[in-house]
Amino acid sequence: MSALPSHLELVQGVVLPKPVGADPVLNFLNTRSDFDGRGPAANEWLTSYEALVIWSGYVGLLADASVFRLIEQASVKPTDATRRLDAAREFRADLYDVLTDEAATGSFDAVARAVGRSTARRQLSAVPADGIGVRATWELPEDLGLPLDQLALLAAELLTGTSRDHIRLCPGDNCGWLFLDPRGRRRWCSMATCGNRAKVRAHAARTR
Ligand SMILES: [Zn+2]
Repeated sequence: MSALPSHLELVQGVVLPKPVGADPVLNFLNTRSDFDGRGPAANEWLTSYEALVIWSGYVGLLADASVFRLIEQASVKPTDATRRLDAAREFRADLYDVLTDEAATGSFDAVARAVGRSTARRQLSAVPADGIGVRATWELPEDLGLPLDQLALLAAELLTGTSRDHIRLCPGDNCGWLFLDPRGRRRWCSMATCGNRAKVRAHAARTR
């Protein structure tokens, strides 16, 4: 078997892009490449509902046990799982528009609706406090909607927080990946891919 390119990793039998966005939501947007309209992606890594769940586990959003149980649920309800995958990809496209195109008001409305649905599914649940009394934590139901719920809530945090202003778009050819650049020092999604390609091109131009 040939080795994978350095920006990809084989995780539980699924090829996934390494998380280089420095933010879970941006890493989710980077699960496809070559965003040019809404047609099929040049590279699509969320090829099945199972891939979405395994990706969520890979980037630390889901515990291993949850990944296992959701894959089981998906095998019992494959049609529902496919619908959830479509919804996640749709959300990904809308959110990408919102972050890269200031005129994307239709996409913003769609993102806001998805965030509203996920917010409504949160339950406040009691856990013991460190000192006196009880503290609370938000919990989401562990069903097929969980991966998108988590991403929608994190997306709302990203859109409303200070990190929003530090999102940059990789200028690499056919890339389109996004990443956080709080110190203004980063140009490429990854030096190993786009950064290196640009270096090779610059070298070829110099020696021509
Ligand atoms: Zn790139």
